[in-house]
Amino acid sequence: MAPLSYPIGRVRVHLISDGLFRTDGGAAFGVVPRTLWEKVIQPDAQHRIPMELWSLLIESTEGLILVDTGHGHRLSPKRREQLGVVDDLRVDRRLADLGFTPADVTLVINTHLHADHCGGNLVAGSDGQLLPAFPNATYLMQRLELADATYPNERTRNAYVCENFLPLVNLCQGSEGGIVRVLSGDTRVTPEVQVKVTPGHTRAHQVVIVESEGETGVFLGDVAGLAVHLERLAWVPAFDVEPLVSMETKRALRDWAWRENALLFFQHDSAVPAGRLRVDGENWHVEAVER
Ligand SMILES: [Zn+2]
Repeated sequence: MAPLSYPIGRVRVHLISDGLFRTDGGAAFGVVPRTLWEKVIQPDAQHRIPMELWSLLIESTEGLILVDTGHGHRLSPKRREQLGVVDDLRVDRRLADLGFTPADVTLVINTHLHADHCGGNLVAGSDGQLLPAFPNATYLMQRLELADATYPNERTRNAYVCENFLPLVNLCQGSEGGIVRVLSGDTRVTPEVQVKVTPGHTRAHQVVIVESEGETGVFLGDVAGLAVHLERLAWVPAFDVEPLVSMETKRALRDWAWRENALLFFQHDSAVPAGRLRVDGENWHVEAVER
């Protein structure tokens, strides 16, 4: 899908797509029965639902910030087939649609280190060696997320691919200034951009908040990949490591976002990439916002 652009005060942000993939519908909605979720989103013959893979590009006054890097170019043919990836849309190429190159990016923020969020952190050079895909960028990731991703357990192992982040950490040790900046909790990144730890999907998942001239935007990552995940608190993916924590994270974030009238970005939603909350009694609804 073509980039979608939105103003947040004086800051311009863009959703750029790494393409579509497919994931098991049951896993996307946890304890919710298929008879309910299939009314919202139709599965294919293999029970998979389509997932968009947006990254957020922020034209901050202090440089160009990219939030998440998609699947990248290094998926195996078998993995591409499992994920139903059929195109070669990749987020680094989509920068050109907006007149940028990977070298223009000064900060990369990973919401967390699942493979669909950081697979494009590195590219293979001509000799096969892995290189930073954004050669002038500092990469920001949470300390606890990095630990959980580096030492996964039997349940979390499938979601992490260490080649997506460990080579950057190793480069960090030998380089001046460092390629990776490891964060310990909520952090203001620039005057307009901050990250906030939002646990549940992983223990140290973070969302990215953009604020300018009284307006607020939030890139929700996997706190609510689809708008319906925020509308209905109990719709928590089976992927989440702490589902009850996810629910409370969503409750607090949703109340705050409603008070702020924040523009919300849903990383995996094709139908509602961006929206604002409306409340009608007990019912919450996300109203799509046109770019
Ligand atoms: Zn995830």
